[in-house]
Amino acid sequence: MFTIIKYPHPLLKKRLSHVEKFDSELKFIVRDMFETMYAYNGIGLAANQVGLDLQIVIVDIGYKEKNKSIPPLVLINPKITKSSNKKVIAEEGCLSFPGYYDNVKRAESIVVEYYDINGKKKELIAKNLLSRVLQHEIDHINGVSFIQRMSPDKQLKFYAFYFLGKYKF
Ligand SMILES: [Zn+2]
Repeated sequence: MFTIIKYPHPLLKKRLSHVEKFDSELKFIVRDMFETMYAYNGIGLAANQVGLDLQIVIVDIGYKEKNKSIPPLVLINPKITKSSNKKVIAEEGCLSFPGYYDNVKRAESIVVEYYDINGKKKELIAKNLLSRVLQHEIDHINGVSFIQRMSPDKQLKFYAFYFLGKYKF
């Protein structure tokens, strides 16, 4: 199991390196990422959140709702290729910002290109919660946090609270 790294760790601001080798080491990393995500009750996790400079994202939105019909997903080197014009606002949190929640506007649906754990190229269409979680996690591997996606007043609120020491992660 990994430790979750928290804001303001510099790795959270880094655009991560592409995964080149789809080997057994990658499978061990992904297995440990799932273990870590479940231990922290998360529904999505990016590799830099566990200190790794690799473009790996895992998601399991069925886990919290005990909905087994939505399987866990592993996305290697994922890229959003289309975003709907329709945006939706909902509250988000992040394991690297424990206890902090606020509204973020995101595309309602997206198309994502990625590689699976065996290196096979795939594409998926995501809507609603899956779309939101994937946008949040794909932002992570590009060095972008959910705070940067908030409206300017909400960003100011976060930074003010953080620097005034009201939030200690
Ligand atoms: Zn996050």
